[in-house]
Amino acid sequence: MERIQNYINGELVAPQSGMYIDNYDPSRGVVYSAIPDSDEADINAAVAAAKRAFPGWSNTPYTERSAIMQRLADLIRDNLNRLAAAESKDNGKPVSLARTVDIPRAESNIRFYATAIMHFESKAHIMENRVINYTHKKPLGVVGCISPWNLPLYLFTWKIAPALAAGNCVVAKPSEITPMTAYLLSELAIEAGLPAGVLNIVHGLGGRAGQAIISHKDVVAISFTGGTATGAHIAREAAPKFKKLSLELGGKNPNIIFADCDFDKMLSTTLRSSFANQGQICLCGSRIFIQDTLYDRFKDAFVEKVARMKVGDPSDPATKMGAVVSEDHMNKILSYIKLAQEEGGKVLTGGHRVHLEGELAGGYYIAPTIIEGLEYTCRTNQEEIFGPVVTLTPFKTEEEVLTMANSTPYGLASTVWTQDLTRAHRVAAHIESGIVWINCWLLRDLRTPFGGVKQSGVGREGGFEALEFFTEAQNVCIEL
Ligand code: NAD
Repeated sequence: MERIQNYINGELVAPQSGMYIDNYDPSRGVVYSAIPDSDEADINAAVAAAKRAFPGWSNTPYTERSAIMQRLADLIRDNLNRLAAAESKDNGKPVSLARTVDIPRAESNIRFYATAIMHFESKAHIMENRVINYTHKKPLGVVGCISPWNLPLYLFTWKIAPALAAGNCVVAKPSEITPMTAYLLSELAIEAGLPAGVLNIVHGLGGRAGQAIISHKDVVAISFTGGTATGAHIAREAAPKFKKLSLELGGKNPNIIFADCDFDKMLSTTLRSSFANQGQICLCGSRIFIQDTLYDRFKDAFVEKVARMKVGDPSDPATKMGAVVSEDHMNKILSYIKLAQEEGGKVLTGGHRVHLEGELAGGYYIAPTIIEGLEYTCRTNQEEIFGPVVTLTPFKTEEEVLTMANSTPYGLASTVWTQDLTRAHRVAAHIESGIVWINCWLLRDLRTPFGGVKQSGVGREGGFEALEFFTEAQNVCIEL
């Protein structure tokens, strides 16, 4: 059985304790590899290596840092099929999705920041031709990057790329549930010629390896994507130590459908925004609000299409719906479906585990599920489920749907379907979310700010925002 290794000081090494954790293939429900159960000793070694590498890397011309990162992006492109197969096996997602979304996006993330750093500029402020101030944007030092399991390599590189481009050295931990592509990335980083210690990838549990990163005195900033409860814990730990923090957390996103929408486009996009990656994207629209005059037409068409969606083997290129990530997560999703029924909801389609045949019999599959008849204030409509489960709720007026949409503690993303331009702008302005998609979903321009409000996070990633996060602005004032 394959044993994943840590990547510390430019080398692939075993955890110092010699301890490993089981890594599951969710499509079959079996252990297929082992992950280092790293602890403080491994993190200390990684931070020490990063600290040693920092003077060299931060003083490497940005053109050279960019060239090394571009080589890494090329290697991701050249290994597309291998990385996509690994991501699918580790996460349960359809290989077609990993091949067209996850891995190409990981390549773009690295390429985007390898080139963005060449255009990252400072301001100068001149006072009456007598005094010049200029802003020096300095890399921070050793930074921690911690990512979740839903878009493993995609979100891991989204943090590492701006951190490295800006001249920082990184200690990164992928989710222990989906470590494989981060491990393969460490092999590619060696091949790309990244100097030793610049990037360190340490595997292990959040409460042990992750905790050692966030509490380490020499880790001066933490970029975290994951659950809101973990984000709150990290904030409690990091704030008194005055670490810089970027937190991308959970969501419970509204998908608002007005009666005047382009019905066909809305319907096909809503299928994706509900169930892509088995609903395990922080941006999925899990609360669907439909204007009352369109409700029955939408419900009939949506249920008919979802009932025909086939859950299947993630490694089959034809599969659109694969396995959810783990047994625990499957049970959590099923418990929410049960809760929804207890709260008075009616399951229109799905609502159960799916048992596939042969080797896949032990896999973690759930039928795409639509529920109606719930109050917008109930737990099913307020708490993040993060699976293939959506609720349908009718509304009459714009004011009413805004109240419903803004009723949760979250505020990550929202989707609005209408042909009325004025209404689209008005609704967008009143929605409490960091991202609003109008007549589209998950259309991403990497230059735009990305992040949530309320309990969906603090700070913005994307574009120059991430380079601002990974640098400290120092003002230098000169009197002439
Ligand atoms: P999680 O919070 O359980 O884990 C995320 C990461 O944090 C993992 O690497 C984990 O090992 C680590 N971790 C856990 N405890 C830690 C600790 N005490 N110290 C340091 N690190 C620790 O989240 P998850 O279940 O992996 O991911 C699902 C969540 O992520 C959902 O809530 C989803 O909405 C959210 N998410 C948000 C975004 C976004 O951009 N806002 C994107 C994807 C996922």
